Amino acid sequence: MPPVADPIGAYLHSSLTKHGTSGPEATILQTKLQRALLSRVEFEPAERQHSHLLQQLQTKYIVLGERDGPSSGRPQPPICLSKKSELRLGWGNASYPTGAGMVNLGNTCYLNSSLQALFHAPALVRWLLEDSRHAARCGSSDQCTVCSMARTLRSTHQRQGGVVKPILIYSKLKLICKHLIHGRQEDAHEFVRHLLDSMQRCHLLAMRATKLDTLSKETTPLNHLFGGYLKTQVTCLRCHHASMTFQHFQDLLVDVRQVSTVDDALHLYFKKERLDGADYKCERCRMKVPATKKFFIDETPLVLCIQLKRFSLGGGKITKHVSFPNKLNVARFMTRPPAQGQVVYSLVSLINHMGPSQNCGHYTAMAKAANGQVYLFDDASVRMTSMGNMLNTNAYVLIYEMTSATRQLLLGPAPGEDCLLLFVSASILYHLSMALCCLIWRLRSAPSVV
Ligand SMILES: [Zn+2]
Ligand SMILES: [Zn+2]
Repeated sequence: MPPVADPIGAYLHSSLTKHGTSGPEATILQTKLQRALLSRVEFEPAERQHSHLLQQLQTKYIVLGERDGPSSGRPQPPICLSKKSELRLGWGNASYPTGAGMVNLGNTCYLNSSLQALFHAPALVRWLLEDSRHAARCGSSDQCTVCSMARTLRSTHQRQGGVVKPILIYSKLKLICKHLIHGRQEDAHEFVRHLLDSMQRCHLLAMRATKLDTLSKETTPLNHLFGGYLKTQVTCLRCHHASMTFQHFQDLLVDVRQVSTVDDALHLYFKKERLDGADYKCERCRMKVPATKKFFIDETPLVLCIQLKRFSLGGGKITKHVSFPNKLNVARFMTRPPAQGQVVYSLVSLINHMGPSQNCGHYTAMAKAANGQVYLFDDASVRMTSMGNMLNTNAYVLIYEMTSATRQLLLGPAPGEDCLLLFVSASILYHLSMALCCLIWRLRSAPSVV
């Protein structure tokens, strides 16, 4: 009796014994079986379907729940529209004018202040004025917010000491965001967000890149300037499995209710938070478990925008002074801080709000100009003030720009600097080779000593 655990063997045995083991059919069957059973079977390791699927999907989505180890990195864009390392920071050696005041066109102090704050972020100014690639490919400059920003910026430079009407931007309020209403006071921070989003859309249109995947769209110069990535790490307290997700961010909205400094507000933002068992289901334990959650800056933006959450949903406003530094080091909030421990930003401009709520009151801006002076921009009025006054204001939106030293540390030399480095290296090599040639020639021509 054949073993029950081998049903195929049992069937073959019964069929062979039923029809007899002799005869031509049995011989053919035996030969074929022998050939099949004695031939060497080559095995190929099966492809991991999970990783194959992830590779396909990561071009479309940000991968959730990636494991620890080398594969836990943030997905990279399939197409890169521009290089972050090509953008220039700081005012450089060029002398940019301070810029003109702006006429209030009817409750437009939010718009004027936002423009003044952005027009004093050197990296944005230099991209708008020095990079001609957008203008060369933009076919509808009248309908484009990037071109409108560049033209408005040029006009404020040409009318330094005077006043301009930012009509090119004001006339495009509905293009910037359909919810913005002419004549109504809007929130300056929301306006900055909508304006940058609109510039991003217009730039993608100019580059014929509107159909790209999300990650590739995030490689525009505007996203390199203002965009970074946050990593959220949730760790299961039962099995210690860490789940990670990545989000693109263009500003940090910090809670200032319990703190009196921006530094403390950032500590609170990036502090490890405890999730109780009802909130989180661990993907490894497959059950609801207590866990911890923590944010990290996975990639830093070149221009860091921080909004102090002064307004409550109920319409109230937190009016207290929240101090903020001129130089801000964010290294301790990063996933992989550099060994030097310094990722430093310098304050370039800010937006102030005076009044009871975000849609009521008055907005002004303060900024460091290219001449090193600090100015207060209050609609048509532009007055010189001091760094001390700037740091003492009850700021609502802070705009910081990465210092050149940090940029060099994270991205390498800026354009121009690498050319200089190349020139110096080539020059040293040239002189060395010339000296070597001279030495060889002298050795050959020197009389031999017997
Ligand atoms: Zn354009
Ligand atoms: Zn778990």
